[in-house]
Amino acid sequence: MKLSSRAYELYQVFGQSGCPVCRLVEQSVHAFIEGLMYEYVNEPATHFAVRDARGFCTTHAWHALEQINASALGIALLYEGVVRHLLEDMGKVEPDGGRRQIAQAAQALASRGPCPICTHRDSTETHLLRNLLEHLAQDDFAAAFGASEGLCLPHLRQALQVNVPIRAKTHLLALQQTIWRRLQRDLAEFVRKSDYQFADEALGEEADSPRRAIQSLAGAKGLR
Ligand SMILES: [Zn+2]
Ligand SMILES: [Zn+2]
Repeated sequence: MKLSSRAYELYQVFGQSGCPVCRLVEQSVHAFIEGLMYEYVNEPATHFAVRDARGFCTTHAWHALEQINASALGIALLYEGVVRHLLEDMGKVEPDGGRRQIAQAAQALASRGPCPICTHRDSTETHLLRNLLEHLAQDDFAAAFGASEGLCLPHLRQALQVNVPIRAKTHLLALQQTIWRRLQRDLAEFVRKSDYQFADEALGEEADSPRRAIQSLAGAKGLR
């Protein structure tokens, strides 16, 4: 099997729970935010992007505050600039000011660019999906994907937008359908065994099917 480094990363997480793309994107986003907090915090380009976005989006702002160790100084450095520019662009609003002051303030409150962490997430997703699609022609890789929990619905939708040959997309869809048929059968079995008449039957493969169903249809928690 000949795999790119991204495809190899995917191959390694096929055996783990949940959507493999979600799993790798989560790791990549976390590392990216850590980088923003520690290493690149003094780089003007990052400051500009964060200012233009008027801070990180809600998901990523809370991620930075709550899941990155000792992020307080990094946040203070970035957000001092965000708040300073917000105030400058709003202009001084007088308590008895007029319509024009409201208009200027309203314009200043709008974001002028995307959250830089969302941008990183989007490009990582596209890159991973492209690598997944491009390697399905290799039997071992396709078989390992087929045995995984498959892509989540948001990532499957996104995969169909990637610019690759049609054959790669139909192959992906066929594999995903097999995965979802397995899921559907397990869910039905879970429901059947929940009936008191069958309560003495031990749970098998279907035991974690409710968790798989949520992960498969919604994608990983906190990714968007
Ligand atoms: Zn996913
Ligand atoms: Zn974001």
